[in-house]
Amino acid sequence: MAATVIDGKAFAAKVREQVAEHVKRLKDDHNITPGLAVVLVGEDPASEVYVRSKGKMTVEVGMKSVEHKLAADTSEAELLALIDQLNNDPEIHGILVQLPLPDHLDEDLVINSLDPAKDVDGFHISNVGLLGTGQKSMVPCTPLGCLMMLRDHHGSISGMNAVVVGRSNIVGKPMAQLLLGDSCTVTIAHSRTKDLPEVVRGADIVVAAVGRPEMVQGDWIKPGATVIDVGINRIERDGKKKLVGDADYESCAEVAGAITPVPGGVGPMTIACLLANTLTACCRANGLDEPEGLTA
Ligand code: NDP
Repeated sequence: MAATVIDGKAFAAKVREQVAEHVKRLKDDHNITPGLAVVLVGEDPASEVYVRSKGKMTVEVGMKSVEHKLAADTSEAELLALIDQLNNDPEIHGILVQLPLPDHLDEDLVINSLDPAKDVDGFHISNVGLLGTGQKSMVPCTPLGCLMMLRDHHGSISGMNAVVVGRSNIVGKPMAQLLLGDSCTVTIAHSRTKDLPEVVRGADIVVAAVGRPEMVQGDWIKPGATVIDVGINRIERDGKKKLVGDADYESCAEVAGAITPVPGGVGPMTIACLLANTLTACCRANGLDEPEGLTA
């Protein structure tokens, strides 16, 4: 039987709608408008596209959007001064520094200079620690989006075997923490894992976050398992440019119970979760209840 397709595009639209409703209530009842500041250093074309679409969607849900575009040769001191200004701006509840930064800037230093409460990407060392110890934190957007889709599809994922392929700080590790938080039995696989296909075959949930086009094959998948494909790879096939995931969609969809497509799966959820995190940060900053269903 063909797998159920988990429609991330539709789900993300629903999440943005929920965020917009909360934002309206914040304005009507408390005269508060959540604000998101995005900082872009340099002229990386892909980053510029991301920043534009983040800004557009921020405004669409009724939030204040501020963009700071800095020259590629901006000094660390200048960037840190801007972050300090945003940390202290009461109208800004979320700050996102678009990565990667130019080589002369120390990414860890920059991210750790953010106010953790405004770190809507969840990369600050305090948020990493809070997530790792099961405390209230800001959660990285892509794994949060994956978790929301899993909860929506399964109801509870407690007790399921989950294999996360990839151990990066922005996807693999926080994803594993979130799955553990929802009481899955979690395995993290990576480039040194022995017999990866066999490890993946034990999974009820497979999260593919490797950055290798169509690597996870259908015959690695336990029949009925759920495949969450985080990968975004631009390839050329038959002379045409194509976007593919880290799982081979066709062969996996024949065996899986459910699967996220690429495009239209995890990708749209990432920006939706950025907006959800900004709303959460705003509610916390003002001592108000957090939006239900939009946090880990
Ligand atoms: P990284 O390159 O930082 O990490 C990749 C991970 O995959 C590493 O842990 C690496 O292992 C592991 N890996 C690489 N090759 C293999 C292999 N042959 N077998 C097993 N494991 C392997 O990537 P990211 O985590 O940043 O991103 C992963 C994917 O997700 C990419 O396709 C990226 O484009 C996409 N992405 C999508 C987002 C979205 O919004 N949908 C957001 C962020 C990323 P090791 O540590 O041993 O080197």
